[in-house]
Amino acid sequence: MNQILDYLLAHQEVMSQTLERLVMLESPSNDRAAVNAVGDFLTTAFGALDADVERLPQAVLGDHLRVTWGQGDRQVLLLGHMDTVWPVGETERRPFHATQSTATGPGIFDMKGGLVIGLYAVKALRSLGLTATQRVVFLFNSDEEVGSPTSRPLIEEEARRSDAVLVLEPSRQGALVTWRKGVGRFELEIQGQASHSGAAHDQGVSAVEELAHQILCLEAMTDYGRGTTVNVGVVQGGSRVNVRPASAWANIDLRVTTAEEGQRMTKAIRGLRPVNPAATLIISGGINRPPWETSPASQALFERAQRVGKALGLDLWPSGTGGGSDGNFTAALGVPTLDGLGVVGNDAHALTEWADLASLPRRAALLADLLLDLGR
Ligand SMILES: [Zn+2]
Repeated sequence: MNQILDYLLAHQEVMSQTLERLVMLESPSNDRAAVNAVGDFLTTAFGALDADVERLPQAVLGDHLRVTWGQGDRQVLLLGHMDTVWPVGETERRPFHATQSTATGPGIFDMKGGLVIGLYAVKALRSLGLTATQRVVFLFNSDEEVGSPTSRPLIEEEARRSDAVLVLEPSRQGALVTWRKGVGRFELEIQGQASHSGAAHDQGVSAVEELAHQILCLEAMTDYGRGTTVNVGVVQGGSRVNVRPASAWANIDLRVTTAEEGQRMTKAIRGLRPVNPAATLIISGGINRPPWETSPASQALFERAQRVGKALGLDLWPSGTGGGSDGNFTAALGVPTLDGLGVVGNDAHALTEWADLASLPRRAALLADLLLDLGR
């Protein structure tokens, strides 16, 4: 039997308790103090493992953490985000709840489970005296769910120094993630002309009517065959029911599978023209996370993990998703990247979000063994 797996299987209960603590430490991206409390928790936990924990202070959102464990000229980067999409107070309605094999709670799957796995992988290696021969650097960021605005440069800087990047985002059904769609964000603002809806209807230019045209045009750009989707997710417009609307706007989400398609779609969205020539369109935004296209280097990293997993009795297969992660940034730099190493479960960002508790020790063993293998 594998001694790392044995150690972690013996720690499944305490891993579940750690997960409960982290779920109950609610951490929406926009609540600086709440996210920092998760940072405090990880600082203490990794500090107890003789890791070097560095806090990277941020002005608006929570601080990021850089945790370095082990020594060596070579480096492996592990990524995990501390923020979730759930507001503080959500656990009053939906506290951490465990049955025999699964548990539910806000952020449990995306990605408090991955934080526990990263922590216990190091704990197991240290307890068993199995120091990795390379530097293991964790970046725990506070702003992934809002597009990683301030952590992106840090992630890219560390990735450039690393042989490989391992992302602790969750896994559906046990699959590892070897590609992800790129994400674009756009804002469309429409300027029209206000007028009295009864006395001077013809003198107004309805920004809302124009928006309706643009929504249909944008949604029609979706092409499932190519893997391209456009979602007009938020719209607003008008001021009063008896006023021709002078303004309207929309927030648009774009997903693409290749960089080339990202450029084509960015051009198409930014090139929209008004149907009513009297209306003005102001379009801003662009690709926020580049597509992570499958590469031979990432494929080789996956195969390495698959081999390591097999020795642990884990059957691992590659998969992709339309959801972006910080792995998109590192893969786009050409650094071998493997994602989905976090907890197994499903329903990210949904009320039904759940995690498989039995996957905690197994995934932590996979990560620990993979770190040893990469150090060879
Ligand atoms: Zn996530």
